[in-house]
Amino acid sequence: MEPQMHHCPHCAKRAREEARNDEIGLAVLIMLMPIMTITLLSNAGLF
Ligand SMILES: [Zn+2]
Repeated sequence: MEPQMHHCPHCAKRAREEARNDEIGLAVLIMLMPIMTITLLSNAGLF
């Protein structure tokens, strides 16, 4: 990641949206983790 010392509303908005997307992605990942674990465990139990 290159640090971009660049100030314009467009890039600021984009950076903010990307940060939010990262947060959402992380939250989804954390939420999905137990579901995936349960699915894997139930599959392992079934087969
Ligand atoms: Zn810019």
